[in-house]
Amino acid sequence: MREIFSIPPEAIRPDIGAVLRAQGVPPDAPLSARTERMAVEAIRMMDDEGRPVALFEEVTRADFAAAYAGEGMNEPETPLDRIEPVAEDRALFALTLGQAVCDRIAALFDGGDPALGAMLDAAASEAADRAVTAVEARFRERLDRERGEDPARHVLAYSPGYCGWHVSAQRRLFTRLRPEEIGIRLRESFLMDPLKSVSGALLSGPARIHRFEARYPFCRGCRDRTCRDRIAALGDD
Ligand code: SF4
Repeated sequence: MREIFSIPPEAIRPDIGAVLRAQGVPPDAPLSARTERMAVEAIRMMDDEGRPVALFEEVTRADFAAAYAGEGMNEPETPLDRIEPVAEDRALFALTLGQAVCDRIAALFDGGDPALGAMLDAAASEAADRAVTAVEARFRERLDRERGEDPARHVLAYSPGYCGWHVSAQRRLFTRLRPEEIGIRLRESFLMDPLKSVSGALLSGPARIHRFEARYPFCRGCRDRTCRDRIAALGDD
């Protein structure tokens, strides 16, 4: 099962509040008219220049294990060590917002409007997060069609570079998935081109398989603790 699909920009459009939060603006902070105008302009640019496209491919447990092991640099214990063995289905995925929006961010920084550049960068990062959610939903829909609907089925994405999965695993992930087909290349540094791209694994199963305590040694240095919101959003089994 390999699927390539475009994501309508309006489906992953961030709201002003999310863009400002990503810039470190507290929700109740007074907003200048200029700041609000910039946020609106950044969201419009994302709509105009974003070309979101995604790819996922279902893989065997052996293929997953090879991509996950990467260069052997993962932390000794990670959430995925517990989640993958009890997952019902697994896929690798990649998505990108396209080169044009990345070029526009760079041009704004280079061309003397770093404030708008930073705003567009935040809008694009928010849109990329929403694109991950769209890919999770698409894989779940595909599983519902092929395996039968299951209201208890939850798909969550996990990415190299986070939560103990070393970023160097990108190399094997790319070898298996070949995201070049949708225009994503891997740099030697393991960053992706275009920069506003995300890659990783999709794992499906009941909510309980995705729940874990954030008590790994590497959690001590984690500021965002995004796992807590993701787990809370799963609801009950
Ligand atoms: S606290 Fe941070 S590093 Fe730890 S599992 Fe959650 S998101 Fe990952």
